[in-house]
Amino acid sequence: FTYFFFKQKEDNIRCLTMFGHFGFECLPHQLVNRSIQQGFSFNLLCVGETGIGKSTLINTLFNTNLKDKKSSHFYPNVELKIQTYDLQESNVQLKLTVVKTVGYGDQINKEASYQPIVDYIDAQFEAYLQEELKIKRSFVDYHDSRIHVCLYFISPTGHSLKSLDLSTMKSIGSKVNIIPLIAKADTISKNDLQKFKCKIMSELVSNDIQIYQFPTYDETTAQVNTSMKGHLPFAVAGSTDEVKVGKRMVRGRQYPWGVIQVENENHCDFVKLRDMLLCTNMEDLKEQTHTLHYERYRCCKLQRIGFTDVGPDNQPVSFQEIYEVKRQEFYDQCQREEEVLKQKFMQRVKEKEITFKETEKELQDKFEQLKRVQQEETIKLEEEKRQLEEEIINFYKMKSGSETFQTQGCTSIKKD
Ligand code: GDP
Repeated sequence: FTYFFFKQKEDNIRCLTMFGHFGFECLPHQLVNRSIQQGFSFNLLCVGETGIGKSTLINTLFNTNLKDKKSSHFYPNVELKIQTYDLQESNVQLKLTVVKTVGYGDQINKEASYQPIVDYIDAQFEAYLQEELKIKRSFVDYHDSRIHVCLYFISPTGHSLKSLDLSTMKSIGSKVNIIPLIAKADTISKNDLQKFKCKIMSELVSNDIQIYQFPTYDETTAQVNTSMKGHLPFAVAGSTDEVKVGKRMVRGRQYPWGVIQVENENHCDFVKLRDMLLCTNMEDLKEQTHTLHYERYRCCKLQRIGFTDVGPDNQPVSFQEIYEVKRQEFYDQCQREEEVLKQKFMQRVKEKEITFKETEKELQDKFEQLKRVQQEETIKLEEEKRQLEEEIINFYKMKSGSETFQTQGCTSIKKD
C-alpha cells in the first residue's frame, strides 16, 4: 500500500514524497552487480624516454610483474608497444591495456616523434566511431581501446621541460588526459624538486598545454582532488623490490645511504598518483575520454566529412537531407572527374596519333631513301655488268685474233 504526497513545483514537475518501500533504491546495487559481472577495462598510455622507468612504474602501480624485456636505444623511429593484461583484485576484474612508447627520444631528429602517438590515439577513436556508425553494433563485446590516460614521464633534470616534451604534450593534450610525472624522483633533491615542479607547471601554462583537470564537481572527491592538484606533476619512484626497513618489508630502492620507499608519502608522490589514478578518478578519466576527447574527434571528423546539425538557414538538417546532398555532391564530383579523365584520355590519344604519324612519315622517308639507294645501286651494277660483258667480248675477239695470227705464223714456217 502506497501513499504519495503531491507537491506542485513552479516548473510544473510534481515532486512526490513517498511512504513505503518500492525497490528502486536498489538501482545502484544493480549497476554495481552488472559492472562487476562485466568487468572493467582501462587503457593507459606511457610516454617517456627509453629507460626513464615506465615499465617499473606500471609494475609498481599494479603490484605485479608484467613481463617485459628492456627496450633498446637504437630504434630508428618511435614505436608503440601494446600489451593487454587481465588483472583481478578481490572480485573485481580489470582488463588493463598498457601502451608504451619505444625509442622515444632516441633519434637525432625528434621533430616528428609525437606523430606515432597522435596517430595511435586517433586510430582508436576512429575504430570506436566506425563501430558506432555500423548498422549492427556490438558494443557488448567490443574492446574499447581508446586511451583513458597518458602518464607523461618527465626526466628529473631539475631544469625545465625539453622541447620534445613540449611538442608532444601540445600535440596530444587535446586528445587524451595527460598526467605529468617526474620520473626517478629519488634522483633529485627535495629543494630542487619543488622548484622543478613549479617550473614545469608554469611552462605548461605558458605553452598552453592542456593536462587532465582533477574533477571538483563531486563533493566527496573535490577536497582531495583540489589538494592533489597542488602536487602536480607527481614526483614518482618505482620499484617492485622488497626492502627491509626496521622490521617491515616495504617496496623500495636500496641505496648505500638508505632506502627510498615508494609507498612512503614523505619520499615520493607514488601513493598520490595511485590513489588519483585508480581509486578516485578512474571513472572520471574514462568519462572525460568519452565526453570530451572522443566527442571532439567525432565532431571534427563528421564535420570534415560534411555532416552538420543545422543548415545555412540555421534550421536543423536531417540525416536524410545531408545524405542526399552528399550523394549529389559525390555524383557531381564523379562526373567532373570522369570529364577530366576523358579530356586527358583524348589528349593522350591525340598526342599518340601525332607521334604515330611522325614515326610513319619517318619510316616512309627512310623507305623511299633506301629504295633510291637500291635503284642507284642496281643502275651501277647494270653498268658494271655491261662493261664486263664488253670486256669479255673484246677479250674473245682478241683471243680469236691471236689464234688466227698463230695459225698463219705456223703455216708460213712450214712452207719455208
Ligand atoms: P623504461 O624503458 O622506461 O620502461 O624503463 P624501465 O622501467 O625498464 O627502467 C629502466 C631502469 O631504470 C631500470 O634499471 C630500473 O631499475 C630503473 N628505474 C626504474 N624506476 C626507477 C626510479 O624510480 N628511480 C631510479 N633511480 N631508477 C629507476
